[in-house]
Formats: sequence, structure tokens, C-alpha cells
Amino acid sequence: MRVLSLFRVVLPLAIASRSQAQSRDQAILSDPDTACHNACRALKSSLATQTYHALTPDSVPAPDLVSSFFAIQQREIIPACWLTPLSAQDVSTAINILKEYGCHFAVKSGGHGASMGMSSSEGGVTIDMRMFDAVEILEAGKEGERARIGTGGRWGEVYKKLEPYRKTVIGGRDPRVGVGGFLLGGGISFISRRYGWALDNVVNYEVIIANGSISQISQATAPDLYWALRGGGNNFGIVTHFDLATYPLTQAWGGYNFYLLSDIPSRLSSLSIPPTPFTFTTSSLVQQVGNFVNWGACKLGYCTTITDWLNAYLSILEKEQYDIDTQVIAGIAYSSDLDIYIACANPIHAKAVPNPRAFAAFKKLPHVYSSNRIANYSTFHKELHDWNADGYRQFWATLTIKPNSTLMQNLISIFIQESQSLKQVKNVLPSFVFQAITADEILHMSRNGGNSLGLSDSDAPILTYSFTILYSKIEGGGGGEDRVIQEGGRRIVERSERVAKEMGLWHPFIYLNYADISQDVFSSYGTENHRKLKEVQKKWDPEGVFGKRLQPGGFKV
Ligand SMILES: Cc1cc2nc3c(=O)[nH]c(=O)nc-3n(C[C@H](O)[C@H](O)[C@H](O)COP(=O)(O)OP(=O)(O)OC[C@H]3O[C@@H](n4cnc5c(N)ncnc54)[C@H](O)[C@@H]3O)c2cc1C
Repeated sequence: MRVLSLFRVVLPLAIASRSQAQSRDQAILSDPDTACHNACRALKSSLATQTYHALTPDSVPAPDLVSSFFAIQQREIIPACWLTPLSAQDVSTAINILKEYGCHFAVKSGGHGASMGMSSSEGGVTIDMRMFDAVEILEAGKEGERARIGTGGRWGEVYKKLEPYRKTVIGGRDPRVGVGGFLLGGGISFISRRYGWALDNVVNYEVIIANGSISQISQATAPDLYWALRGGGNNFGIVTHFDLATYPLTQAWGGYNFYLLSDIPSRLSSLSIPPTPFTFTTSSLVQQVGNFVNWGACKLGYCTTITDWLNAYLSILEKEQYDIDTQVIAGIAYSSDLDIYIACANPIHAKAVPNPRAFAAFKKLPHVYSSNRIANYSTFHKELHDWNADGYRQFWATLTIKPNSTLMQNLISIFIQESQSLKQVKNVLPSFVFQAITADEILHMSRNGGNSLGLSDSDAPILTYSFTILYSKIEGGGGGEDRVIQEGGRRIVERSERVAKEMGLWHPFIYLNYADISQDVFSSYGTENHRKLKEVQKKWDPEGVFGKRLQPGGFKV
């Protein structure tokens, strides 16, 4: 899950997308004879109303095809054409045309993949699955009841469509995240401790495989491909529908809690980082005000320390083991605009028990904001969305560790050092979260023949330490900053991994849905699982249609 971004953002997209559309048209018109333009013409003649190709006068891309990507880097990619298929048959036709012309492509569901080109195709065909947004209950009331969900839906809409049945599924916590990418990479929901990760709740996939056929893939029909799709990302086909187990819709207790920190000045000085110098600029003045408010709040007793906050989180990890309905995400964010660090804890109790015992240590910490209450899940999803601004450039990465106070203190020091080294980048907002992967979640991973992630319950508890760096909101203006941020982000991964390894507390798992594109996700599943994934791919996709050759974006097996 994405950590909090501190401010909600109103997107200044109108002007930017117009100028982007103009430059897109110029780029396309200047190079009309590539394989992909020919493929686009063929797509236009077979799937006329679904193809948006600048060489045909009636089809300039609708602007929201571009703005529906979460990260600005993805919006900047210029495809030869867009396709918004209406049916599985359309996807099959498209795959056959793309193979015939040797044109590369990308598949997009909700567009929340953070890296450039993950679900957008430079000079190729971006297949936007948005029209597959139907939700249907199959075999209602019977033992095999399941919800058939189109890959192009967003989780908020999916839950809304299931509400009249008083049912829910294991899906995303942010309502704008897409169904497809979330389910193919893993899927941690608010209720995963009780019911498992989302990928372990898929009982059937409707997939267009490499030979263009429309296949129903389940443990009964094709156990090897079914296993590979559970964690294998976009490497095995284009999924049009997922059948998911259903569960009763309930209420929950939880919310957001924010803590100001009193020990940042001493931490900075122990890391030999001098305080930010004052200059006569507006941003410097705002920073001084931020620091002054933080100082004043601490004087009035509203602050805690990183150590107390961390101990509260670690105490939950112990107690969490005994309460399968408790989940807490905890993290720290740095606002360069205000020059302050803020800690956060985001608890959920799935049985709607107020202030569960596991959260007691956090309850004792002085906080500056708390929204804990009993509410419908839709309220918690909306709240999470409100703290996750889109329209920024993004860097995401993750690693997995065993919980340990000294290690986590070290990781926080690395985070503080590196976030200070990035603060010259405008609007930079680095943050991290710890999230437990518990034994009860992992036990679900052996259901129906298991998934490909390679986790065993003897590994638990482990923690994902994932961080995001939000920065410039300007389209086309990321240039040099992208490099600085990527280098900084990758340095955090590399330094954190090194420390965790030295302390014998590193775990190899890299969670695909939070990973940076440079991370070797599939090796992290273990040698045997990686080998098996390659073997399944060779069997079902001998020409490598969904591999690097025609679909270069995303994580490759
Ligand atoms: C604000 C925010 C909150 C998040 N919260 C959570 C969370 O609570 N829990 C969690 O586990 N993760 C979370 N994530 C991570 C999220 O699950 C991943 O970013 C996921 O990939 C998004 O899926 P998407 O369909 O929106 O993305 P897309 O960018 O559309 O797709 C991501 C990848 O999946 C591939 N893909 C998509 N659809 C298909 C398909 N039908 N067939 C084949 N390949 C396909 C794409 O090609 C791409 O490589 C969050 C991300 C964000 C930005």
C-alpha cells in the first residue's frame, strides 16, 4: 500500500494534456510507417470504435485515457495507438494482429503501476481494459458462489456493485487501484489475515493466451498456468475476468493516526546532518513555520519519539499474532515543503472492535490527529484514497525483513539521511511503511495448489519495508529529477538490504506490487519457483508474446 501523501492535490491537467496530445500527434504523424502504425491501421479496420489512432481523422485519444494513469511518468508515454476492447473476442483479435505485425504492446487495467512503461507502450499499442468493468455474482447462495469481476474495474466500484448483495471480495484498499494489476501481483487487503491475499481468492481466470484463444484457467483446467498466474504478473496472457471467492460484508474499526516527532533534531545531528539553513525565500519561510509549529507542539506535549512509535508497532506485531482481525500499517513521511517528519499508524479491526488490545501501545502515544471509529469499509477506502494523492511523479520500491528493533532503527536512519539528500527536488515527499506478512496470511497461500510467491509460514512474521518518493507534479518536466530520485531510491534499497543482510534479518521476497522496476522480483520467489515460472511460460507462450519481445513493460520472468 501507498503511504500517506500529506496533501490532497488538485490536478492542473487540462493544459498539460492538451499540449501533450499535440506533441503526441506530431510524433505519430512524423513516423507513420512502422510495424505498429500498420498494426494500428489493422486494428482500426477490425475494431473500429475501440481503436484511437492519430492517423485516422476521427480518433484522437480521449484525454482521460492519459490522465487515468496514477503516475505522471506513465502519462508521458506516447503509443502509436490506444485500444479499448469491449469483449474477450476483441482481445483475441488484437493479440493475433499484434503478433502478425510484430508490434509491441502494454496492458493497462487501473494504471496504478508506478514505473514508466509498466502499463503503457511507447510507440506501440496501449490496451486499456477499462470496458471490462462488470461485476456479477455467479451461483448466488450456493457453495460455489463467486463474483466474476472484469479486469478494468477499480476496487471502489467493485465493492459498490457488490453492496446490494451484502457481499465483498478480497481487493484493494485504495478505491482507485485497478483490479487486474493488483490481482496478478498479489493483493493485500484490509481482511487478508482472515481470508488470505487476493491472489489466493481467485478461483478462475478468463485469459487470452498467446495463441489467441479465450481460456478458462483454474486448478481443475490447467493447474500449472493457474499456479503461475497467482503472482506471475503480466507474463502469461491478458486476463479479462477473475472469479473471486465472496465473503459477508461487515463493518470495521480503524482510521488514520498521526504523530509529530520530538527527536528529529537529535537524530539529524547524530547523523551529522546540519539543520536546514534559513534563506529569504517563501519556501524557506514556510519551512521555518513548519519547524516552529512542530517545536511548539512538542513543548505542549503533543509529540512522541521514533523509538516509542517503533516500540508501539513492534508490540502490535507480537499481539497481532493472537488477533487475526487486527492489521496495522505504520510509516513515516517527510514533507520537504514543511521540513518535518510525521509518523503514522493506520489500524483496522475487521470485527469492528473499538481500540483493540493489540493497538493499546499506540493509543498511549500523544497524537495530533486520529480518525479511529467504527464505519463501513467504503469509508476506510475513501479515507485511504484521500491521503494518496495522484498526479505526481512516483518512485516505489520494497524489501522484506524480519522484525527487529535495531534493524528498523537503522532503516529509519538510512531513510532520514537519504530523504535529506533529496530535499532539493521540488515538492519531494518521501515516505515508507512497514507492513506485516503474518503466518495466517501465508497459510492461505497453499490453497488450491499454492501460488508462485515462494513464501512459507515458517518465514512469518516478516515485514515489507516499502517506500515511495513523490515528487514534481509537472508533466514532461521530470527530466533530471527522475534520475536523482531513482538513484536516491535505489540507494535506500541497496543500503537497507546490506544492513539487513549483515544482521541476518534480510528476507529475499520482493513484493511485485510495491517493487521498483529494477528489482528482480521473480528470482525472489526462489530458484525452483522461478524455474517453474519460466517452464510454464515456455509451454503456454513458446513465441514469447507476453515476454520482453512484444510486451517489454512490467516485471519479466
Ligand atoms: C495508491 C495506491 C494504493 C495501493 N494499495 C495497495 C494495497 O492496498 N495492497 C496491495 O497489495 N497493493 C496496493 N497497491 C499496489 C497495486 O496493487 C499495484 O500498483 C497494481 O499493479 C495496480 O494495478 P492496476 O491494474 O491499477 O495497474 P496497471 O498499471 O494497470 O497494471 C499493473 C501491471 O499489471 C499488468 N496488468 C494489468 N492488468 C492486466 C491484465 N488484465 N492482464 C495482464 N496483465 C495485466 C500491467 O501490464 C502492468 O504490468 C497500491 C498502489 C497505489 C498506487
